[in-house]
Amino acid sequence: MHSSNIIIGGGLSGLLTAWRLQQQNLPYILLEAKAELGGRIFGVQDQQSKHYHDLGPTWVFPHQHNIQNLLTELGLTYFEQYTQGDALFQKQNNVEIIQTVGAGAMTTYRVQGGMTALIETIYRKLNTENIKASHAVTNIRQKDGHWVITAQHNNTQINFAAEHLVLALPPRMIAQHLTPQHWASPSLQSAFKQVPTWMAAQAKFIATYASPFWRERGLSGQAFSQQGPMQEMHDASADNSPPYALFGFIGIPAQNRAQYSESQIKQACINQLQQLYGEQAKNAQTTLLKDWAFDEYVTTKQDCREAPSHPNFNIIEHINELEEKNIYLAASEFSADDAGYLEGAVCAVKQVIAKLITN
Ligand SMILES: Cc1cc2nc3c(=O)[nH]c(=O)nc-3n(C[C@H](O)[C@H](O)[C@H](O)COP(=O)(O)OP(=O)(O)OC[C@H]3O[C@@H](n4cnc5c(N)ncnc54)[C@H](O)[C@@H]3O)c2cc1C
Repeated sequence: MHSSNIIIGGGLSGLLTAWRLQQQNLPYILLEAKAELGGRIFGVQDQQSKHYHDLGPTWVFPHQHNIQNLLTELGLTYFEQYTQGDALFQKQNNVEIIQTVGAGAMTTYRVQGGMTALIETIYRKLNTENIKASHAVTNIRQKDGHWVITAQHNNTQINFAAEHLVLALPPRMIAQHLTPQHWASPSLQSAFKQVPTWMAAQAKFIATYASPFWRERGLSGQAFSQQGPMQEMHDASADNSPPYALFGFIGIPAQNRAQYSESQIKQACINQLQQLYGEQAKNAQTTLLKDWAFDEYVTTKQDCREAPSHPNFNIIEHINELEEKNIYLAASEFSADDAGYLEGAVCAVKQVIAKLITN
């Protein structure tokens, strides 16, 4: 199968690249390893309200105008993160819970319907026969002036050919899956390995409830803990309507989490919510856990070993090589602004599209 433009990766950056190319009447094929699209944007849908509980990204920050403009362009609305009321602080080795006046003026925005609505809305605009899910790329190489891309699909190897290759996956995923030893210079290979994937080794827990009992007690749902298992918690309700929910980031390092089962971690999170918010916290309707450390298409062993840090890929250093080889780096980690964030993905795609249109 051949297309002038092949995009590897079906997260926000890959899908947005596809849509922008389609708007310009330019051809594309998108290859995504997993059965589902969205990459790090991943949510579980509440069957009644259709709201998606975000197990990946939740927030858009006020200064991030590119992602805000994209949401508006797509007809999606966003609302302010609920922060009314007090925050809680759980100290180490201390049963006492400290209540802090006011959760603080942390203004962040959440997408109405959940972040997955962003992925669904872009997907609905695409020519879906060009989107190949469950196509895990295992090898790319240059041959006779074009790219040959090998993907694994249902135990079969399929080859694709392209002039332009858009890599819409984090640098360490390129290093891990796309055989850069066959096509990249040593310095580019090393840059791919060095730059961390933002939030890669995190795990997120969500508990849903019939009512927002913490709000009724004047609490924001924001809590910080030195005891764990969650170290930072927030209200995760669908705006001011059901489903009501709390979410938290698990503070136990990825390597240590591996020794606990999913149900043990979920139970420990519920126990912690009970300590913070009382008996009602026991009565969760649903509990959800996504451990990103065990996602082979997001996280490497190196991400799990290292302390989380912000990605910084010096694209200028490799610009000649990338241009010579017709490689375009579209994932969030490659952005000069807000790398690692949703905003970074939108900015990186903008740069890539400007180049693809002129080439
Ligand atoms: C827990 C968590 C919380 C976060 N919170 C926030 C937040 O609040 N705000 C914010 O702005 N950002 C947040 N982020 C970061 C945000 O999710 C990312 O910036 C954004 O989703 C990146 O999109 P992307 O398309 O560049 O990369 P990805 O979403 O990683 O997409 C890459 C795609 O490539 C695919 N892929 C990998 N290998 C292959 C292969 N060999 N063949 C084919 N396909 C492959 C993957 O399956 C994936 O679909 C969070 C991330 C996580 C994990």
